[in-house]
Amino acid sequence: MNAAVKRGRAIIALLPGDGIGPEVVGAARIVLEAVAKRFGHDFEFEEALIGGAAIDAAGTALPAETVAFCQRADAVLLGAVGGPKWDDPSSTIRPEQGLLGLRRELGLFANIRPVAPHPSLAEASPLKADRLTGVDLVVVRELTGGIYFGAQPLERTEDGERASDICSYTDREVERVVRVAADLARARRRKLTSVDKANVLETSRLWRRVVTRVVAEDYPDIELDHMLVDSCAMRLIQRPAEFDVIVTENMFGDILTDEAAVLAGSIGVLPSASLGAATGGLRRGLYEPIHGSAPDIAGRGIANPIGAILSAALLLRYSLGLEVEAEVVELATHATIAGGRLTPDLVTNGTRAATTGAVAEEIAATAGTARRIGTPAGTAGYA
Ligand code: NAD
Repeated sequence: MNAAVKRGRAIIALLPGDGIGPEVVGAARIVLEAVAKRFGHDFEFEEALIGGAAIDAAGTALPAETVAFCQRADAVLLGAVGGPKWDDPSSTIRPEQGLLGLRRELGLFANIRPVAPHPSLAEASPLKADRLTGVDLVVVRELTGGIYFGAQPLERTEDGERASDICSYTDREVERVVRVAADLARARRRKLTSVDKANVLETSRLWRRVVTRVVAEDYPDIELDHMLVDSCAMRLIQRPAEFDVIVTENMFGDILTDEAAVLAGSIGVLPSASLGAATGGLRRGLYEPIHGSAPDIAGRGIANPIGAILSAALLLRYSLGLEVEAEVVELATHATIAGGRLTPDLVTNGTRAATTGAVAEEIAATAGTARRIGTPAGTAGYA
């Protein structure tokens, strides 16, 4: 895989999924095509089925061909899965099985969610604008262990029914995700906050010991602090700008990532990456916006494509090793937001909203040509 990418050739699997998934994946593809053209890369795109669309076509949320194709591809870009058509809770075949199954099949264990609210979107956030100044953080969530994957015994006792969810972690599972987070911190402001509940939970005490050891042994240049999850939940709202990289276990990460997402103003602008083991510095990855399939707006051409487009930027960075191209996409996105071309979810002052396609085309046009543009921090860069 790596050699192919270094020559500028890459196979990118597109899994549009359901609802607005096809609209936002289509938008991200336009941007990737513009970047490929500008930098002389040869990206081959191929689509595969997942989620409700796969249930309708093949009777399963994750057809074997989709798994095989994603395993062959250099990276996977996904839209979203699910919708009312497949929502029957009694059904044994459900769209989200596609996503969970694919993460498992690809060995993805670290979910990465960057949050860097754009200054001109401050009004769309429920936080006061001054709290958002300088916010630029990444949450790294462990994805394959903890309480979501432990035994769930349901017993009859003398006092009635008893349900349990077992939370367990091995030191290996903790170590590999901490290394992903520490590598990220090293490439940023070198600050790592490990979040646990070590005053109560044994898994958290193991987590804390492993993080402390790994950072002391291999990342002495990184400033590490430990924070209890309840404190972290408060601090994310009170002083979000103090965070650089946060690393935490599965359930805490599930909750904190949604809380952090609120800072950005719209669920439509946030990207994510689910990463697996590294080969030659590049990681296998599944990239997707954090939002769902938004059935309430699907098919209307008004979905915000920015979460998917910024996910494509993460794909360029982590799975293809194309850092400059990734930055170009991010800068072009910032320029488009600053220029006021916004979908309805971001329009707060009564100005006319743009369509999904218009936003994507503007970002693609900016990313596809070399010109100097401003960044949110007020510095300048080339997009
Ligand atoms: P959702 O994220 O789909 O929508 C929540 C709200 O945000 C809706 O009002 C929607 O219109 C809006 N929204 C979401 N994305 C947007 C975008 N790009 N642009 C503008 N507005 C946007 O969450 P939900 O309504 O709880 O779930 C809908 C379906 O999506 C459910 O079937 C759920 O299971 C599924 N879902 C899938 C994923 C995934 O595929 N990773 C994640 C969450 C939810």
